[in-house]
Amino acid sequence: MQELYYGLTGYSTYDEYINSPEWKEKSTYIRGCKEWKCDKCGLQKRKKWIWKEVRPYFAEQVLVWDLKSLPIIQVHHLTYENVGNEKARDVQVLCLKCHKEIHNAK
Ligand SMILES: [Zn+2]
Ligand SMILES: [Zn+2]
Repeated sequence: MQELYYGLTGYSTYDEYINSPEWKEKSTYIRGCKEWKCDKCGLQKRKKWIWKEVRPYFAEQVLVWDLKSLPIIQVHHLTYENVGNEKARDVQVLCLKCHKEIHNAK
């Protein structure tokens, strides 16, 4: 089982990696690339306007992803071969419902 995780760098188990700041950052990036949208059913997070300071004493409104909006979007590993060094084809972006369905089907 251990050789399954050869791609991990500095983490000894899958759980340790999944809970690491490194994966949090990477999975946020992956989900952002996919516009926080489920690959399977198309559910997507909403956007919201926020005030952003672009220079001192000057702010403008920008549209950003509302990460607190529903649905919950997660990253699913299609293969565990490259865990720690995932390629675009190794992962899928899914909403919580579709993600659960995939794991329950196995
Ligand atoms: Zn979905
Ligand atoms: Zn999964």
